[in-house]
Amino acid sequence: MKFSTRAIHSGQEPDEKTGAVITPLYLTSTFKQDGIGRNRGYEYSRAGNPTRDVYEKCLASLESAKYGLSFASGVAATMAALYLLKTGDRILASADIYGGTYRVFEAVLKQYGIHTDYSYSGESGDFLSKAGKNTKMIWIETPTNPLLKILDIKQISAAAKRIGAVLVVDNTFATPYFQRPLELGADIVIHSTTKYIGGHSDIIGGAALTSNREFYNKMKFYLKAAGSVASPFDSWLALRGLKTLEVRMKKHEENGFAVAQYLSKHRKIERVYYPGLKTHPGHNVAARQMSGFGGMVSFVMKRGKKDIEDFISNLKIFTFAESLGGVESLACVPSKMTHGFFSAKEKKKLGISENLIRLSAGIEDSGDLIRDLEKALGKT
Ligand SMILES: *Cc1c(COP(=O)(O)O)cnc(C)c1O
Repeated sequence: MKFSTRAIHSGQEPDEKTGAVITPLYLTSTFKQDGIGRNRGYEYSRAGNPTRDVYEKCLASLESAKYGLSFASGVAATMAALYLLKTGDRILASADIYGGTYRVFEAVLKQYGIHTDYSYSGESGDFLSKAGKNTKMIWIETPTNPLLKILDIKQISAAAKRIGAVLVVDNTFATPYFQRPLELGADIVIHSTTKYIGGHSDIIGGAALTSNREFYNKMKFYLKAAGSVASPFDSWLALRGLKTLEVRMKKHEENGFAVAQYLSKHRKIERVYYPGLKTHPGHNVAARQMSGFGGMVSFVMKRGKKDIEDFISNLKIFTFAESLGGVESLACVPSKMTHGFFSAKEKKKLGISENLIRLSAGIEDSGDLIRDLEKALGKT
C-alpha cells in the first residue's frame, strides 16, 4: 500500500465492539485483569495503552520501521535513544542541530561521562573525520536546524557501519513523507511529533522508530522505566495528524518553495537557505534522498537588528513564535530563541547570525504569505 493509504489505515481497524471507524480514545490509567497473571494485553497505561499502540503502529509503517515508540516530547524520544549509550561512549553529532538536543548533550549527558564531538563539515563527505574509537553513536538532522544543510544519509550510514556506531537521524523537518532514513541505512529515527506529524500546534510529543529489535526493546524498557510516555489524548491527536500528513506536506512544500523563491530575489535579503533552490549547496543530495524539500526556509536580512525587529513586528499572517510544522505560518529568530543555549562563539562558528530568520511555511494561501512578507520587508 502507498503512503497516504497506510497513513489512514495502518494499524487501524474499526472498533470490534461498536464499529466506531475512528480509533477510540482510551482515557484510562489501568485495565481490569482477568485473573492473576491474566490480562487482555494491557495492565497500566504507562506500560501500554491501546490508542497509543495504534498510533505507534501507524507511524512505524510510514517510516518503514518494524517498531515504533511514542513519547511525551521529542526531547523524551531523544533521551530514550541516548539510553543505548554508557559511560565512556562518545557521540559524533552534526554541529547544526536542534538547540534542545545540543543542551541535552552538553548539560545532561556530560555528567554521566558521555561526551559529544561536533562535525562542522556540513555538506561535505568528511563528516566522520572526528570519529574516534569510542564513537558509538552518530546523531544527525537533515535538513538541519536552522540552516537547512543537507547531509548524505546513505554515505554517513555506510561510514557508521564501518566504525560500528549507531546512526540516529532526527527526521522532524523532513517527515516520513519526504524522507525515510531507515531505508537509507539509519538505525533509529527520532521525531518531534509536536511539529509536522501532529501538524496543528496543539500537542508536545516525540517518537522513536527502528527495525532493530534490540534497540527497540531497550528504548521500550527506558520508556516504561523513565515514564516519558505520550498521553492517550496526544496519541489520538497525533494519529489524526498522520492521516493528513501527505496533503499537508505537499502544501507546506508548495508554500516553502514560493516563499524561498520570492525571498531569493528580494534586494533586502542577503541569503536564503532552502534545499529546493538549485543554488543550495546540498540541493543534489536532497533531490536524491528526499522526495520533496519541505516547508522550512531560513534567510539572512541585510543590515541590522532594528530592521529585523521592524520586519517581525509588521508581519500579520506569519506569527512570531518558536516551533514549526503547524498549519499556520511562523517566524522566529533562532539566535535568540531556538538556539539561545548556544554561546556567541558557537553561533558565530555555525553561521547563526542575529539577522537570521527562520520561517515555517504553513498551509495558508501562498499569495497571502508572500504579500505578508512583502509588506513587512517594505517597512524595514
Ligand atoms: C522541536 C524539535 C525537537 C524537540 O522536540 P520537543 O517536542 O520540543 O521536545 C527535536 N528536534 C527537532 C529537529 C525539533 O525541531
